[in-house]
Amino acid sequence: MADPDPHQMVTCPYNKSHQLEHYRFHMHLQKCRKQYPNCPKQTCPFDATHIINDVELDYHVTVCPKRAIFDHQRFDFGDSYTPPVEVQPIPKLPAAHIEENWDDEPSTSYKPDPKKKGSHIITKVKGATPSERRKARMDGVKSYKPPEPENQ
Ligand SMILES: [Zn+2]
Ligand SMILES: [Zn+2]
Repeated sequence: MADPDPHQMVTCPYNKSHQLEHYRFHMHLQKCRKQYPNCPKQTCPFDATHIINDVELDYHVTVCPKRAIFDHQRFDFGDSYTPPVEVQPIPKLPAAHIEENWDDEPSTSYKPDPKKKGSHIITKVKGATPSERRKARMDGVKSYKPPEPENQ
């Protein structure tokens, strides 16, 4: 939108009989505004701190400095906007796989321990059977010579 012709005749929002050139419009509003202190107020759509007389709002929004910022930000946003990067979800482990691991855990503990089996075999080889131990004990008894009786 091109800037209005500064010499374009505009009508004062407070009094339609006030016809003035555009470049004088702003100054005129500041003077004329004081003649209507009870004029209804509106909040600027671009800045809530701008309390504008209702009749001036249409003009204000065309000159509001915050509007320029608003338009600039909107333009920048549109110009630099890029679609959000599609984040790849972390693949979840299949439930069946997890259950399989849980099933493996107890079955492993029930496996026979080869070390225990081996040690049992070694002990059996090195140690004597009960009958062998009994025989050895009897041999000891046979070889044992009791001391002579004191009364002999
Ligand atoms: Zn006026
Ligand atoms: Zn404003």
